[in-house]
Parts: sequence; structure tokens; C-alpha cells
Amino acid sequence: QFEFSELGRHLAGRSGIGDLMEDLGNALAHGGDEIRMLGGGQPANIPEVNSLWRRRMEELLSEPGGMERAMATYDPPRGNPGYIAALAKLFRERFGWNVGPEHFAITSGGQTAFFLLFNLLAGPMPDGRKRKILLPLVPEYIGYANQGAFGELFTAVPPLVEITGPHEFKYRVDFDRIEITEEIAAICVSRPTNPTGNVLTDAEVARLSKLAKDHGIPLIIDNAYGAPFPNIIFTEAHPHWDEHVILTLSLSKIGLPGTRTGMVVAHPDVAGAIAGMSSVVGLANPNLGQAVVKPLLESGEILRLSKEVVQPFYREKSRLAVDWIGESFADDFEFFIHRSEGAMFLWLWFPGLPISSDELYQRLKARGVLVVPGRHFFFGLGETPCSYRDECIRISYAMEERIVKDGIRAIGEEVRKAFQSA
Ligand code: PLP
Repeated sequence: QFEFSELGRHLAGRSGIGDLMEDLGNALAHGGDEIRMLGGGQPANIPEVNSLWRRRMEELLSEPGGMERAMATYDPPRGNPGYIAALAKLFRERFGWNVGPEHFAITSGGQTAFFLLFNLLAGPMPDGRKRKILLPLVPEYIGYANQGAFGELFTAVPPLVEITGPHEFKYRVDFDRIEITEEIAAICVSRPTNPTGNVLTDAEVARLSKLAKDHGIPLIIDNAYGAPFPNIIFTEAHPHWDEHVILTLSLSKIGLPGTRTGMVVAHPDVAGAIAGMSSVVGLANPNLGQAVVKPLLESGEILRLSKEVVQPFYREKSRLAVDWIGESFADDFEFFIHRSEGAMFLWLWFPGLPISSDELYQRLKARGVLVVPGRHFFFGLGETPCSYRDECIRISYAMEERIVKDGIRAIGEEVRKAFQSA
């Protein structure tokens, strides 16, 4: 009926993340036994975690002024000052980082933090240059792909593939192919990585950090699954921060996705800019997650919860899913699982898969099993060849065991069928 602007068309049009959230939302809203949802990033319902949120909600209702602060008040655009003070103290004490409240900005979820950060740093510059975000290792988080307000925002490098076991591999950063030109505004990685469950080693992060620092650009590290919370990380990797590093965190994966709470830890200029952008886009951010979690930051309970409940929960889920894949896929066709080092996903690679990953997705969807086709995670590559970009899928192992197990069995059957009829 009305004309839409270029930006409007770009953001309102179809995107991988839009389709994914549509599938996810519909599957979870309509529920039912018929859908095996292995597709989204929905965190698991962990009873001990949910009972903690319930307890905190009850406390907020019974404390004088608790509900009013959490729901009936606008926070400043940077976020709740008490929550930010507690976060800064936690990072100072736990990691020894020299950060104060001026280094923090709260956003409406990590997703929004990325929209603001990418468009703050990259795109058309005042002097006419166009700058891009470098993804030093794709596959990378699908949710970044369409976030550029002014078109294509990314340039990306395919990984080195190291076979680490009979059915296991690991991606590594291919430093020889990374080139930091004038065009690059920032380097960005998720760690642990969605979709692969990869955790960049400390050495890889140190090298990326030095590259960024030497070129006077930021290194953005998306810590949505990392330490200190939710700490869904199964390796010995250490968090990294420096004045040129922009670290993002989220309350989603510890179990509060509905509160939409993201956090940016960055140089005060960047944190201040994000706060300014938040005020324009949304006035203020949702308070409730911050109100629920603040005393848990102060007491350290959030660290205990992450380390003793959340992390072992996902570690066990991952182990089970890998076992089920071994049982269901047998040796009928070639397959590899990316080494599971964190997050809530397994990344499956079927070398020589005779159908596209989109076709596999469609065939599985027709059977009521939702996965995410791998192709969408290889964005920013332009013409760079990457032979296996259409041979992979991502599955989540966060859902109930029965659903994950059934889903894996169906994937095995569909992949077997595809190979047999090739
Ligand atoms: N970054 C990564 C790597 C993610 O997987 C997600 C969600 O799945 C996000 C950021 C954004 O999450 P939220 O906006 O819920 O904080």
C-alpha cells in the first residue's frame, strides 16, 4: 500500500534470522508432539534455574519498592546504575579488568547491541569511505547477517579445517588469509561460536586482539555463551578484555531471553555512544532482567549457578547428543561433528552431501524436524570459494532428550536417503 525506504526494505524483508525466529516461535508457541525443534537458540528450561527466577520475582514483589523499580520506572539509557556498578565490580574482582561504570552499556538484548555496534563502527563514513566488519572465521552467527543499515557489512574468511577424530573436526582461524585493509572497521567473533560450538583458543584471541590493536580498530567478542555467565564453555579458555576490545554479554542463555538484556563492555567512548543510540532507538532498556539478576551479581550466586548448574547441564546434553549421532548415523555415510567446546549447538558436516543444506532442511521440516541449514552462516564471503558451505547443518541440543534423540534419528535417515538416491 505504501512505499518503503531502502532501509525499510532491507530490515523488513526476508532474512535467515527472520525465518529462523518465525520457525522457532511457531514451534514453541504451538508446541505439540509433532515438532522436533532442533533449530533455534532457545535455552533449555532448567528447573533449578527457573526456580531461582521465581524466587527473585517473589522477592521483588515483597521488597518495598522492588516491583516499582523493576517495572514502573524508566532507567537511564545506559542501564540501571546499581546493576552496572555490580557488573563492573564483578569484572574487576573476578578478572582483574580495570573497568568502571563508564565502560558499560545495557541494551535490549545482545542482538540489539550488535545492531548498534556494527552500525556505529561500519558502513558509510563521514569522509565518504565505506567500512566493513571482518569476520575472521565463518561460519558465524546468522543473526549478524542482515544488520547493516546500509547494505552488506561483512567481509569474511573461511577457516582452516582440522580433522581431530574419526568423526570430529575443529575450525581454526586462517591467519594467513586475514588482511586488515583500510576498509576494515572492526574484527568480530563469537566465542563460544554459534553455530559451531567452537571456542577460539586463547592464542587465537590474543593474536586477533594484537592485530586489531596494531591497526587501531576494535576486536568485538560476542560472549553470549561465555564466562562468567552463562559459562556454557567446556574448554579452559579465558575471557579477554582490553581497552580496544568490545565484549558483549547477555542474560538470554542463562535462562532469561524474555527479559531482553544485553551488556556491552567497552572503552567509555563506545559505551557512551551505545547509551546515546539506545536513547534514540528505545528511550531506555528493559529493567526487569537487571532487577532480577542484580543481587545475584552482588552475592556471586550467578557464578555458582553458571558453573555448577548451567554448564554441567549443557555439557551432559552435548555428550548425549554426540553419542546419539554416533548410534544413528553409523558408518553408512561420511559425517563429522565440530568438536563441542561450548554453546548449545552441534555443527554437522556431511562431506559430499548430494543435496543442498536447504533441501535437507526442507525434507526434515516436512517430517516435523527443524534444523538450521548451514549455508546461511557463511555470509560475507563474496566470491571466496568454500566447498563445504552447503554440506553442513546446525542442531541445538537444548531441548528435551526425547526430542533431540528423535530429531537426530530423522537427520540420519534423511541424509542416508540423500546419499543412497544420488
Ligand atoms: N550472539 C550470539 C552468538 C547468539 O547466539 C545470540 C542469540 O542466539 C545473540 C548474540 C543474541 O541474543 P540475545 O539478543 O537474546 O541476547
